[in-house]
Amino acid sequence: MPDQLKRTAAICTMGCKVNTYESARMAEELTAAGWIMVDFREKADVYIINTCTVTQIAARKSRQMIHRARALSPDALVIAAGCYVDRDDSLIKEGVIDLAISNQDKPNLVELINKTLDERAQEQQSIEEYTELSESASSQDLSQATEPVAPSDHTRAFIKIQDGCRQFCSYCIIPYVRGPLKSRPIGEIVEEVKGLTEKGYKEVVLTGIHVSSYGLDWKEQNYNRMAEEGIYVGEDLARLILELDRITGLARIRLSSLEPRLITKEFVSEISKSKKLCPHFHLSLQSGCDRTLKEMNRHYTADDFREAVRLLRAAFDDPFLSTDVIAGFPGETEEDHQASLDFVREMKFAEAHIFPYSRMDGTTAGKRKDQIPADVKKRRAHDLLHVTGEASKAYMERMQGKEVTILLEQIVTSGQPYFTGLTDNYVRIAIPADRIPEGTGQGDLLKVRIDGYVNIRSANHNASGLDTILRGI
Ligand code: SF4
Repeated sequence: MPDQLKRTAAICTMGCKVNTYESARMAEELTAAGWIMVDFREKADVYIINTCTVTQIAARKSRQMIHRARALSPDALVIAAGCYVDRDDSLIKEGVIDLAISNQDKPNLVELINKTLDERAQEQQSIEEYTELSESASSQDLSQATEPVAPSDHTRAFIKIQDGCRQFCSYCIIPYVRGPLKSRPIGEIVEEVKGLTEKGYKEVVLTGIHVSSYGLDWKEQNYNRMAEEGIYVGEDLARLILELDRITGLARIRLSSLEPRLITKEFVSEISKSKKLCPHFHLSLQSGCDRTLKEMNRHYTADDFREAVRLLRAAFDDPFLSTDVIAGFPGETEEDHQASLDFVREMKFAEAHIFPYSRMDGTTAGKRKDQIPADVKKRRAHDLLHVTGEASKAYMERMQGKEVTILLEQIVTSGQPYFTGLTDNYVRIAIPADRIPEGTGQGDLLKVRIDGYVNIRSANHNASGLDTILRGI
């Protein structure tokens, strides 16, 4: 595209790390095609909202961002991509968006934009010929180009290793909107990661819709049947990790959300051979009550989960174990809630994301009549937050005095400038900027000793506007 025709595009990402990965890829493809990426808050010629529909709240936020884009630049091309539009075509019917791009069509984004802009230009030309207007409204916007943003501003790169989920949890719409399981070949992922390490990335996060199913589509295998029959499910995922381990320049491999039944003796024994795998495991629990787990169609029990945690804690030195828990699933009694609460307390997670159940149309759970009142869900979520908060604090306390390596990310100012970054076990550390050796900066690894806490302003701050995080020197 010649310079004078360069146009601006902005992407807003909702939802999961798979969307984060796919947004980064879309930005790369747009940049390669000559588009200038700008911040979503700026005026742009094209806005892409990479939507999410995992909860009603996520769907509502996706809609809000679409309306915000329309308000920012009424003449812009507003595109909604991903799960929300795969599920609901009303946005396009109502003319709220100009183009809907399904998850499957995300790789064809540039082609679809060009086609739509061509059609629009043809329409515009007819109007111009008729009204004898000399300039199109959209060309006036070209002067509004703002500072470019990089396709990805992460020091960690997210790599999508698979798509799709066949688990059909009763509260989740994702299997209906993300399509069949599709795992990327190991060789292709290895090549992508090599390219990223050459660009300076030291850490990759392996993401997917159901990472634990990685490779099963090649064998036409069913995750639940294999897990029930005690067949080793994680073979291909372990193979991928060990292949990535051999890449020179790559320092860390992090896994995103995993299923507890993936964590078998064989899997743990294989992944323990990796020198780069981060001791950070996010195991989705959802409930600690067997009756609720069954109603959620989760296919495992609290005992299965307990065993997975035992195996990980035996193989790794105090790994960071995080989880998700739903409070107030339809039909959850006070006894069920208590069982879940007791189990969560027993597991001592380093971090837990607690979600009051969010009713989702089109799911089995969404149709149930025994929905829990909002105030009860809120109270149960609060109970869970309280017990997970205690375990989180204890984990942070255990980090005191330890020598750790952090991947430097960004400078924040809170009284004085600090550099912040993550340890391999996913703990955020702040180091006074004047303690950073010369020539060291964003994307570098640095050894520090943890010596206390500091209050830092951050995007995810609490009510006081500050987060208390560990300090390193
Ligand atoms: S595992 Fe369950 S919650 Fe996760 S994407 Fe699949 S159906 Fe949804």
